[in-house]
Amino acid sequence: MLELLTEKFSKSLLRLRDSRKVTEKVVNDVLRDIRAALLEADVDYQVVKSFLKRVRDRVLSEDLKKSLSPADSIVFTVYEELTKILGQQKEDLKKGVVLFVGLQGTGKTTTIGKLAHMLKAQNYNVTVSSTDVRRPAAMLQLQRLSEKVGVPYYSFEEGLSAVDIAKKAVERYKKEGMDFLLLDTAGRLHVDEELMEELKQIKEAVKPSEILYVADAMQGQEALNVARTFHEALGLTGVILTKMDGDARGGLALSVREALGVPIKFIGVGEKIEDLEPFYPDRIAQRILGLGDIQSLVEKVQQTIPEDEAQVLATKVLEGDFNLEDMLRIIRFIKNLGPLEKVLGMLPGISAQLKHIKIDEEKFKKTEAIILSMTKEERRNPKIINMSRKQRIARGSGTTVSDVNRVLKEYEEMKRQMKKLKGALGLGTMPRLPRFPFK
Ligand code: GDP
Repeated sequence: MLELLTEKFSKSLLRLRDSRKVTEKVVNDVLRDIRAALLEADVDYQVVKSFLKRVRDRVLSEDLKKSLSPADSIVFTVYEELTKILGQQKEDLKKGVVLFVGLQGTGKTTTIGKLAHMLKAQNYNVTVSSTDVRRPAAMLQLQRLSEKVGVPYYSFEEGLSAVDIAKKAVERYKKEGMDFLLLDTAGRLHVDEELMEELKQIKEAVKPSEILYVADAMQGQEALNVARTFHEALGLTGVILTKMDGDARGGLALSVREALGVPIKFIGVGEKIEDLEPFYPDRIAQRILGLGDIQSLVEKVQQTIPEDEAQVLATKVLEGDFNLEDMLRIIRFIKNLGPLEKVLGMLPGISAQLKHIKIDEEKFKKTEAIILSMTKEERRNPKIINMSRKQRIARGSGTTVSDVNRVLKEYEEMKRQMKKLKGALGLGTMPRLPRFPFK
């Protein structure tokens, strides 16, 4: 996700920090790099233009933070302006009837399932229904998803129009005192008048609290034009960008808010039911600048392991007092977090080089087996692992001594990385973050 921008931004801002003196020429060079990066990432031209103007105006008017070096201050200005074009703050979802609109194949149905799952986990009473009368298969798909998530799907007799279904679904949702009705609408391959007319009628009939436009992030500029058409016809209240996991460029993510004035509310980051995240502009800006997404990582970690255990582990990491038992715990909850690439992408400084890293899940399993073959004492104090212990561990785990050596070496490396991470986290709150951890 957004790798292209992260790579380019990191490189260019690193150069800025490396230059001995921040002259006007240096600033211009950096802004030129950023402009090229944004255009290459398919960000809307007007958005790029106004973004750069704001950064340049602020930098030239020396609206610089006193506590920062000139270079860091420019980085911080870029961070703030980037956050602004992404929408400044996370936008919540209003309770009520949520209408989903968008073209076919963008991930609309999948997203409704994901959102139902997320809202249910937050203890809301959620129900779903579909008005896509032309495509019974799409209705069935949503029905199956709702069964998987464990929320009711409202279905009605055949032959009703889309508007009738919408009305009946809302009546039932009200009668049952639900918090959310997630209503799917017909998707077409292209925008057409008939579809727009139907959507307008549904909007009129159900008075939704939200009209969310689902867009495929990988489609870039083209999707922006379609979104504009939907917005003009319906007045969208939010956008959900799907397939962000496959989107290296980020053109749509950076353009939508500024170009349409509609906030991005969620992003889809994979095909699984839990692969939907609220959209946090500041975290995405940090990610683009190569600062990693520490906040998201911390939250994910807290979700997967009990809070007090997370605390203990965090303290250990910060104090550098980290043994093989901790490594085992980390391996296990990283496994629960989902694909490793995603987790690594959230760590500071790693995102830019991420695509060069190949992660080997098999090796992970081996590592787990090796640590499990150690005694408690060995795990807590790896220094005592001599040759005969290594041989025993290798036998016990069905591996070789060189595998055991590899794990021990990786442990040392991880310990070293943890110290580095400690350095990065120790920088404290955002205003001082632009001291790049990977420098
Ligand atoms: P619809 O026609 O708009 O309802 O689209 P679907 O919900 O059927 O989704 C189309 C395809 O996109 C399916 O294969 C989904 O699994 C996939 N998809 C949806 N959201 C995401 C996402 O966030 N990431 C990835 N990688 N695939 C997604």
